[in-house]
Amino acid sequence: MNALSHCDTIRKEADTMVVARHRPTRLLISQKAITHNIAVVQKAAQARFIFAAVKDNAYGFGLLPVSQAALHGGAQGLAVAVVDDGLALREAGITAPILIMSLISATDARLCAEQHFIVTVASLSWLQEAAAYLADTPAPLLVSLAVDTGMARIGTRDRAELAASIQYLQERPAQFTYQGLMTHFADSDIVATDYFHRQVARWHTLTDGLPEPPMVHVANSGAAIYHAAEVPTDVVRIGTALYGLEPSEGTVRPDDYLAQIERLESELIMVKKVPAGEGVSYGHTYMTDTDQWIGTVPIGYGDGLNIKLRGFSVLINGQPCPIVGKLTMDAMMVRLPGPLPVHTPVTILGQDGDRRITLADMAKFTGIAAWDLSIQFSDRLPRLLTD
Ligand SMILES: *Cc1c(COP(=O)(O)O)cnc(C)c1O
Repeated sequence: MNALSHCDTIRKEADTMVVARHRPTRLLISQKAITHNIAVVQKAAQARFIFAAVKDNAYGFGLLPVSQAALHGGAQGLAVAVVDDGLALREAGITAPILIMSLISATDARLCAEQHFIVTVASLSWLQEAAAYLADTPAPLLVSLAVDTGMARIGTRDRAELAASIQYLQERPAQFTYQGLMTHFADSDIVATDYFHRQVARWHTLTDGLPEPPMVHVANSGAAIYHAAEVPTDVVRIGTALYGLEPSEGTVRPDDYLAQIERLESELIMVKKVPAGEGVSYGHTYMTDTDQWIGTVPIGYGDGLNIKLRGFSVLINGQPCPIVGKLTMDAMMVRLPGPLPVHTPVTILGQDGDRRITLADMAKFTGIAAWDLSIQFSDRLPRLLTD
């Protein structure tokens, strides 16, 4: 399949993703906060290049707005998991380097060469297979070789195979360019770092003395922020820190030096007085013990809010108002201090007055990691870049 028909497929699929723009619920992404977080990582890591990990719809925050904000805010490249993410970025006119972090099919080698993607390769046999598809390629395929130092996901553990792969690339300049050498850490983000140090040692055993490509990249957010001096890297691939999410969830450093990038807001669409002794929402898990003012907010688990957020408070006029009863797919009910007008703003994530709600707060409440919550934000939520 050629590049064009791939893009057509994406366009057709994109057409079927419905974004709810006729509803007051939206996810705002702050350019300022993304720029701040990139600067924090840059200062800690002293890296030459920052690649923003925007895989899986930029951890749920939105592939295009986040990619644009990251490149505008100081990142030199983007890192995605699948070829299709890269195609969507090129379709949107982004010309910056794009690293595909997962393994691709050899049959896509030529497409990736045409698109100037940097692809991750874990074996010599893949290069041999891909060479057949690159016989008359208009541009060499940019290759980043992956070394498995202990994640046991992607990469070779064999120094001889790595050396042979580098030689294979260097002998075929019309087909390949040796662009990167990488590994990935399994636990750079916790206090007990024995395993991290074992991975660093293995990296040296596997790669010291071999020819180096233009990009050596071993650091994710945790390694870039906590272990910059210990890892030999000139590129960092950052996800969590870019999104203002502290990789250790506050166990290594307090979680306030990164800026919150998101604001999730809505409005009250209905306000009613519910008499004492009535149930609210499916299953009547919540019963009013007094007469209560209950407001309806048009966001539910269908938008990616976790159902465990029942009982969590949102902010209205700067005051916490608890979610009562089960979240429904498209709406949730909150307990109000009184008969507030319809259209009163509701802050689900972000600042209102002198209070603020973060994904870290939701993570503490639900026991689910902040990035596992953000990744659930559905296509239906409009994502807008602000600042
Ligand atoms: C997801 C991913 C990253 C980003 O990791 P964070 O911990 O979110 O910074 C970096 N490298 C690879 C290979 C990844 O898959």
